[in-house]
Amino acid sequence: MSSSRLHFRLDAQATGSRARAATFRTLHNEVLTPLFMPVGTQATVKAQLTRTLEEAGSQIVLANTYHLLLRPGPEVFRRLGGIHKFMSWDRSVLTDSGGFQIFSLPHSRSMSEAGAVFQSYLDGQTILLSPELSIETQKAIKSDIMMALDHCVASTAAESIARAAMEITHRWAERSLAARGDSPQAIFAIVQGALYPELRRESVARLAELGFDGFAIGGLAVGEGKSEREEICESTAELLPCDKPRYLMGVGTPLDMLEAVHRGVDMFDCIIPTQVAQRGAVFTSRGYLQMRRGVYKFSDETLDPGCNCPTCTRYSRAYLHHLAKTGETLGWQLLGKHNIHFYHQLMREIRESILAGRFLELYRAKREFLHEGDMDNPTRVPKPGRKRSIRLGQYEVHIAREGFASIRHVASGEIMHSRTEPMEEAQRLYVEQSHLAARLRETATEPLVIWDVGLGAAANAMAAIRCYEVQAVREPVRSMQIVSFENDLDSLRLALQLTDLFPYLRHSGPAGIQKAAQWQSKQHPGLSWSLVYGDFLETVIDAEPPPDLIFYDMFSSNTCREQWTLETFRKLFAACRGRAVELFTYTCSTSARVALLAAGFHVAKGRNAGEKEETTIAFTPAADGDTAGRYDLLSSSWLEKWNRSGAKFPAELPADEFDSFERMILAHEQFLSCQEVRGERRIFDGL
Ligand SMILES: [Zn+2]
Repeated sequence: MSSSRLHFRLDAQATGSRARAATFRTLHNEVLTPLFMPVGTQATVKAQLTRTLEEAGSQIVLANTYHLLLRPGPEVFRRLGGIHKFMSWDRSVLTDSGGFQIFSLPHSRSMSEAGAVFQSYLDGQTILLSPELSIETQKAIKSDIMMALDHCVASTAAESIARAAMEITHRWAERSLAARGDSPQAIFAIVQGALYPELRRESVARLAELGFDGFAIGGLAVGEGKSEREEICESTAELLPCDKPRYLMGVGTPLDMLEAVHRGVDMFDCIIPTQVAQRGAVFTSRGYLQMRRGVYKFSDETLDPGCNCPTCTRYSRAYLHHLAKTGETLGWQLLGKHNIHFYHQLMREIRESILAGRFLELYRAKREFLHEGDMDNPTRVPKPGRKRSIRLGQYEVHIAREGFASIRHVASGEIMHSRTEPMEEAQRLYVEQSHLAARLRETATEPLVIWDVGLGAAANAMAAIRCYEVQAVREPVRSMQIVSFENDLDSLRLALQLTDLFPYLRHSGPAGIQKAAQWQSKQHPGLSWSLVYGDFLETVIDAEPPPDLIFYDMFSSNTCREQWTLETFRKLFAACRGRAVELFTYTCSTSARVALLAAGFHVAKGRNAGEKEETTIAFTPAADGDTAGRYDLLSSSWLEKWNRSGAKFPAELPADEFDSFERMILAHEQFLSCQEVRGERRIFDGL
C-alpha cells in the first residue's frame, strides 16, 4: 500500500512500451490515467463552461497559483471556501506553484534562497514568492493536488547553473512539504536538471526520498529540441517510482502526448486545445484543420466524422468556418469544446488500448496521422511525377521527389533546401541549434537581433517568427528583431505567387517585406522584421542593429563565390563589434571553415542536414563563455584534414601570404587550448 494521499494503483503496463494505465483518488473524484488536464489559468478554462468540461470527460482542471495569488488573491478563496465552489467545478483541481510563470517573466524578478522576488504586473507591488507562500496560497485555493515551488532554468543552461537551480529546487521541495503539514491535499515535486542525465538522476533520487504524492518532469519545453525533450522525458520517467503519478508539465500537442505516454508519462496539461480554437483551428480524426480556409465555405459536413461532441453533432463546417472568419466568440467556444473532447477521447483510447494489451498497435496507427494537416483538403498540391516549371528572373520552383517545393537557381542548378523541406531544415539547423526559444525567454531589455543572411524564400526568417509566435502565446518573451539581407527578391516573389507550394508564407510578414522592406507584427508588439537590400559585402558594414545570432544561408560558393571569402567573413566579424554572436550555416566545407577561423571566429561542428553529415557553427570570442562545452569545436583531426586539403588557402590569398596564414590558423586560440594539438603544431612548424 502506498503512503500517498492519492491511493495510486497501477492497472496495467503495456508490453513493448513504457505506457501504463493507473487509477488514483483525489479529494473529489477517481482519476483514470493517462489523462489530459485542461488549463484554467484564471479559474476558468477559456470560453468553456464547467458543465462542458464535465460532459467532455475532464477529470482534473489546472489553475495557476501565480495568477490567482495576484487576482483575486487567497483571501477570496478563504472566504468563499476554495476554488471548487468559486468556479462551480466539483471534480479535481491541480494548482501549479507559480515557479514557471516567474521564470518566464521578462523583467523584474530575482531569485534567492528565500524564494523568487517579482513585481506584480497589476499594481507594481514587490512580492516574495517563497515555497511557504506558494503552498499557503495553494492551501487557500484548496486544490486537490499542489505543486512544490521549483527553480526552472532554460533547458540549455550550463551544467553549473542547472545544478545550482536543481539544488535550490530540492531545498524548496523540503520546505514545501513541511508547509503542507497535515493538510489532506496531495503534493507533487518537480524534477529538474536540464538536459544533464546525471543531474536528472540525482534530482529523482533526492526527491523520491521525501514522500511526495507524485512527480512532475519539469524544465522541459523551455528551449530544447523535440528529440532532446523526448530522450530526457524517457530517461527521467524510467527513474521515477512506479507507484506514483508522473506528470509532464505544459505538454503539448496530441502527438507530443502520445509520444510521452509511450515513454511512461501519465498526466499532461496544455493550453493548446483552447488556444488554437481561438485562432480557428481544430484537431480531428482527419487531421489538423484551419477553419478559416475557404475550402469549408460551402461544406455541409460535420466538423469531425469520428467525433460525437456537441459541436460535431450539431454544426456544419460551413457555419464553423463562418464563425471563425468573423472572429465570433461562439466559434472559439465551439471549436475549443471539440478540441478538449478530442484530447480526452485520445487519452481514453490510449487507456483502453493499454488495458487491452494493444497499445503499440494504437501508437503506430495514431502516429501516422496525428501530425497531418487536413487530409481531405490538402494545402499542398504537387502531383508526383509532374514537374512544374515556374520561373522568375534567375529562379525557378523545384518539386522534390518527396513532394515538397523549393527554389532552384537556374544558371547553377543549385537548390535551396534540396533534400529536406525548407521549414523543417530551417527549424533543425537554425531555430533549434541556436536555442532560439530559450533565448526568447531570457530576461533582457534589448531585443534579440537575428541577421538572416540570404533571405531567399524566407524559410529561415519564417521559422524564427513561428518560434517567436509559439513562445509568445505561452509566456512573455523578450523582443525579437530579424534583419534579412538580400540583393535579389525574385525567389521570395516567386514563392509568394505560389503559396499552395510554400504554405509557410501565408502570413502577413513576407508580404510586408516584399512590399515595404519591413514588417511589424500586429499581434506581438515585440516582433519586427526588416530587409537590407543590396550586396552583402557592402551592406554588412553599416548594418544596424548588430546581431546576436546570424543565420548564414547564402547559395554555395559555386553559385555565389564572393559570399564565402575571407574578406566577407572579416567584415562580418567586424560587424559583430566585439559582442557575443553565434553564427549557423549549412556548409561544412573546409574553405568556408578556415575563412571563418581566419576572420576571428571559433568554429564548431553543427548537426547533420540532408546529405551533409555535419554543418558549421561559428561564434565570436565574446560568446566563448556562453557556449563553453555546448559545441563540438573543430580540433586537431580537422587541422590534419585541412593541412591535406586542396582548399587550404582562401582563393584570393596571394602566395606570399600562405606562411603567415598557416601560422595564424595554427595559433588560433581554439586550437591552442587543446593539449594534443601542441604536438601537431611542431609537426606543422617543421613543414
Ligand atoms: Zn467534435
